[in-house]
Amino acid sequence: MGKGVRKRVLVTGGAGFLGSHLCTRLLREGCDVLCVDNYFTGRRANILHLLDDPHFEVMRHDVTFPLYVEIDEIYNLACPASPIHYRFDPVQTTKTSVIGAINMLGLAKRTKAKVLQASTSEVYGDPEVHPQTEDYRGRVNPLGPRACYDEGKRCAETLFFDYRRQHGLRIKVARIFNTYGPRMHPEDGRVVSNFIVQALRREQLTVFGDGRQTRAFCYVDDLIDGLIRLMASPDDVTGPVNLGNPVEVRVAELAEVILRLTGSRSAIVYRPLPADDPVQRCPDISRAREILGWEPRVNLEEGLRHTIAYFAEPLT
Ligand code: NAD
Ligand code: UDP
Ligand code: UDP
Repeated sequence: MGKGVRKRVLVTGGAGFLGSHLCTRLLREGCDVLCVDNYFTGRRANILHLLDDPHFEVMRHDVTFPLYVEIDEIYNLACPASPIHYRFDPVQTTKTSVIGAINMLGLAKRTKAKVLQASTSEVYGDPEVHPQTEDYRGRVNPLGPRACYDEGKRCAETLFFDYRRQHGLRIKVARIFNTYGPRMHPEDGRVVSNFIVQALRREQLTVFGDGRQTRAFCYVDDLIDGLIRLMASPDDVTGPVNLGNPVEVRVAELAEVILRLTGSRSAIVYRPLPADDPVQRCPDISRAREILGWEPRVNLEEGLRHTIAYFAEPLT
């Protein structure tokens, strides 16, 4: 690309939580950004601050249908990400992952664009290897309520690698672990947003199971930085690369931290654990450290403070 020519970047799922932060960051870096979203879980409010930018364009479109545009890079984030939303219409979830991937790969093939897939730690299922490394093949129930998401994402990874082998595409696969921050959907049922909203509304915090299951939570700015670095990496770096914060906490501990940081006196109540809910999850990020020089910088308390401040505004 010549000097002064702006890179044209497509972000699918650009009006969602991660997508809106990614669009913001790409515009700041001097790219022309095309945000494509069907607003299933995304919101125009997430991208309101970008609408006046002449280098930002929004298109309402469902990625299960073909898309003909001219672009240099594609970040494929379109897919409902929270259990409540991906189970709402499981067939559509799998279609979004699989047909969406085929369309974005077809688009990348025609335009010779680089294409990055937002994959997930869910490809490891309920893991027996801990922390999870990229070569671990996972333990996923193909028939359970999470399968539409997990297997859809696994098939998308397969498609990415087959398009590379068969058509020589430049691909990048990021396996994203639990990420949180401002602009999470307050009703999407994910644990960080649920606990913060419950604490601020002085409602009971709903811990599922005994709360001893673990997750590792990455602040959104760190995650976006990882995605940008992965896209900028040399063509022989395809991934998959784990991106997440390797500090593991129990769900019950997270509830305590959020109660403390919000100063809420809400009680904690225990509810049944959903089917196939992984017992433990934590990324091994050695590969990201080595090939991207990346690691998270924002610790849990700092990230939670920013997130609490975001949710406190419209709620109080
Ligand atoms: P999100 O629900 O906020 O964003 C997903 C976006 O995709 C939404 O704006 C939604 O409207 C859009 N979308 C859904 N189906 C679509 C379709 N068929 N066509 C066009 N747009 C569609 O979720 P998020 O947390 O921002 O997740 C973004 C991506 O990152 C997803 O692919 C998700 O699987 C992946 N991911 C997220 C996390 C996390 O912790 N946030 C973890 C692992 C993977
Ligand atoms: N596709 C698209 N935009 C493009 C090129 C292709 O959406 O610019 C879609 C097209 O609908 C096709 C899919 O991507 O079904 C896969 O494309 P590919 O070229 O791999 O397959 P083919 O067109 O041969 O089926
Ligand atoms: N969880 C919880 N209370 C809630 C929402 C979630 O205890 O109100 C638990 C959930 O059972 C899981 C963990 O928190 O063990 C993370 O859930 P989330 O839906 O955020 O992400 P995922 O299960 O996909 O990691």
